[in-house]
This record gives sequence, structure tokens and C-alpha cells, in this order.
Amino acid sequence: MEKNAFVTKQMVEEIVKKYPTPFHIYDEKGIRRNARALKEAFAWNPGYREFFAVKATPNPFLIDILRDFGCGTDCSSLTELMLSGAMGLKGEDIMFSSNDTPADEFAYAAKLGATINLDDFTHIEFLEKTLGYLPKTLSCRYNPGGYFSISNNIMDNPGDAKYGFTTDQLFEGFRILKAKGVERFGLHAFLASNTVTNEYYPTLARTLFEVAVRLQRETGAHIAFINLSGGIGIPYRPDQEPNDIRLIGEEVRKVYEEVLVPAGMGDVAIYTELGRFMMGPYGHLVTRVLHQKHTYKEYVGVDACAVNLMRPAMYGAYHHITVLGKEQEPCDHKYDVTGSLCENNDKFAVDRMLPEIAVGDYLAIHDTGAHGYSMGYNYNGKLRSAELLLREDGRVELIRRAETPRDYFATFDGFDIYGKLFPEG
Ligand SMILES: *Cc1c(COP(=O)(O)O)cnc(C)c1O
Repeated sequence: MEKNAFVTKQMVEEIVKKYPTPFHIYDEKGIRRNARALKEAFAWNPGYREFFAVKATPNPFLIDILRDFGCGTDCSSLTELMLSGAMGLKGEDIMFSSNDTPADEFAYAAKLGATINLDDFTHIEFLEKTLGYLPKTLSCRYNPGGYFSISNNIMDNPGDAKYGFTTDQLFEGFRILKAKGVERFGLHAFLASNTVTNEYYPTLARTLFEVAVRLQRETGAHIAFINLSGGIGIPYRPDQEPNDIRLIGEEVRKVYEEVLVPAGMGDVAIYTELGRFMMGPYGHLVTRVLHQKHTYKEYVGVDACAVNLMRPAMYGAYHHITVLGKEQEPCDHKYDVTGSLCENNDKFAVDRMLPEIAVGDYLAIHDTGAHGYSMGYNYNGKLRSAELLLREDGRVELIRRAETPRDYFATFDGFDIYGKLFPEG
């Protein structure tokens, strides 16, 4: 599928008068269209709810858009819980799916009334000790081990993943929790990431639904919800076929009616915790070409670097690049597109065929709406960029300002750096 940017050269030239590159920009129209499609795809399930994985794009302006579609949040840490709480989410609006969890984070989640999703059998005792009680609603994360495959293709290797209860621990855990007074149970699993196939959710659903039927039968626990978690991917590459969320919802419904309904479990709510699917395609990292270097290869040096988007450096991930204003020109030049970190993996693209590039060109790096800004860091003393939102009516709003050196130097309590640099305070 052809990948087009949602900004044009003309728009960017206007935006940079106020907000210099690099910046992440998000497309409200795309976010809304997609969130509506997801909601409709699971409308057959009366209790259905999406809990947006905050870690993907922790920005309240964006999360607010999703709330229009009934979404809650899925948090992995204290600050994500704090953000959710401050946005007015509470109780069952918040899912807390963390692992290796510190006690104070469990306590904070419980204070908000969040639904706690336990990652490990030993956390039953840890949680009870931490809170002095167990919440009436609790969820457990399941890891069936082995390999997770779809149509004979191995998708991932849960047996090598740190997450979740084993099958035996799950049954034992449900028995213990029930004996200790837990009344509503949830079941959760995340077995493969960034799946670009319509089969992932239906296959996962069958695994979870079958174990849920056995759990309810054998432990008497009342299973109120089943959380399919994240993992629905996006087509980062132009040759990938996007997932069809309507079909995915329909296929999950079939498995639900085949497995849960006959077992008398037709009241189970389906939850999802999607991050990438909700936001990924609706973000671009916009950056300007600063230099061109001609050595053993042709290098295009831009004003963004891996601190703004870590995926290519970390996973060798492909992110499509549009040279703005040159959309119709042939891709007949081969470049490495680099940032300025003292790290040779700081490359947004390697041997990428692109139109002929000139210094001053603007590049839109695609699919940075999830796990983009949020994976940012400060290596080489680089500062985090701004985040902008392209509203449906075409206005551009600053939804997070860029970091400044003041932010960077603000934490050396007791060593007078800040005062020297900023005597005015
Ligand atoms: C990261 C994560 C998600 C979201 O994953 P995506 O791949 O962005 O959909 C959901 N749930 C949990 C527990 C996660 O760790």
C-alpha cells in the first residue's frame, strides 16, 4: 500500500515559523477514524472496552481524544497512573498491567481503584502484604509457555518471556484468590507484539477462552472479563497489508460464541489494551536536513536523532520516510539517513532509496505515533522534542513543548550548575 504523509511541505513550512523541527505531529482525524472503527468492531460485546496503553504515547491531549470513544487507560508505572488519575480517570477506567511492580505502585493503583492485573503468582502475597487486603476484582496475566504460532508460523516465544503465570500457577492462583474473597476475575495475555495479521486476536482469544472455561469450572471463580491486551500491529512497510479491525472483531465474536457462550459465559466482557494500533500510524517525526556527507556512502544528516525515535536504532525497525514536496519524484538515490548521536546505529534508514535530497528539505518519518516520543531519552545531552497535534479543522496545537536546557539541568540538586547557567532563576 502506498504510504502518504498527512502533512505537506507547505504545511510544515508554516508550522516551523512557530515550532522549529524536529517535532512529533499527530493527526486527530486519523486517530478518531481508527478509534471509531475499533469500537464498532467489538460493539457485539456489551462490556467491551479499550484501555489505551499509556506507555505508547503518554500525552493527555491524545488520551482525551480516545476518551470520546469510551477508552480507559492501561498503565505500566506510577507516573502513568498519576497521569490517568489527574485526567479524571478512576476506578474501572484504569487497568494496571505492570510487572516487577514496586509496592508503592500497587498502593497507588489501589488508591485510584484501578483494576490490578497481576503478572506473577508471588504477587498475590506481595499485594496482600502491601495493601493489607485484596481487592474484590483482580486479574491475572497468563503465559502458556512454548511457542505461539498462527497457521504454522511461529509468531513469538512466550516460553522465553518474563511475563505472566504458568498454567498451573494460574489455576492455583485463582483458587487462592477465590478463597481469600476475590469476587470478580480477569484473565489477560500478551503473546505476540506488532502482529500484522488478522489471525492474532482470534487465535489468542481461543487460548484464553478455553482456559477461562476450565478455570471457571475447576475453581468456581467468576470470570468477568478477558483482556486480549496489545499486540495488534501496523504496516510500517509499504508492502504490508494493514489489519482489518472489523474482521478481527468478527472473528473474535465467532470464537466467543463457539467457546464461551455454550459454557454459560456469555456475559464475559472483552477488553483490549492497544497502544501501537491506536496511535502508531497517526504520528510523524518531522525533521530537517542539515548536512549531506559523501564518503564511503551517501549520508543525509537530519536535526532529529535516535533520542526522538529509538526503534530503528534499537530494533533495526523500518520507518517509512517521505521527502516532503518530492512525493512524486522517483526514488533513485540511495541514502543513509542519520542523526547526530555518537553512535553508529543512530540511523533512521540504511541504504534507503529516496528522491534526490537537498539540504533544507523536510522529511516526514512515518508511524511514530506510538513507542516514538515515549521511548525518548537524553543521551549526548539531547533534548526531547515538542509534540504537536493537527486538529481536524487544520489548526496545529502545541500539546507538549520541547525540552529546554533548563529542564535538562534542573535535577543536579546540590551542585550549582543551574544557578550558574540561569542566574535569573
Ligand atoms: C506494551 C503493552 C501494551 C500495548 O502494546 P502495543 O503493542 O502497543 O499494542 C498493552 N499491554 C501491556 C501489558 C503492554 O506491556
